[in-house]
Amino acid sequence: MSGGGGTYDFDDDEKDAAKASGKPRKDFDCPSCHANNPVDDALSQGDEVRCNYCGAEFKVSVNSEGRVKFREI
Ligand SMILES: [Zn+2]
Repeated sequence: MSGGGGTYDFDDDEKDAAKASGKPRKDFDCPSCHANNPVDDALSQGDEVRCNYCGAEFKVSVNSEGRVKFREI
């Protein structure tokens, strides 16, 4: 670092990922029972989520268009 007056700060990786994939999802609809579940962090590739209603667990995958898909674990 030579004091170049950098204005770039490293921020949360999650934020960058969310920015790259459009808007972050802060909830998801259970593919099994269609209940809407809130999540603490925006969903991202490889996340595992659990439906609070039916207890089903899903693995999150995000495609290149930023669409979120769920695969039952
Ligand atoms: Zn469910």
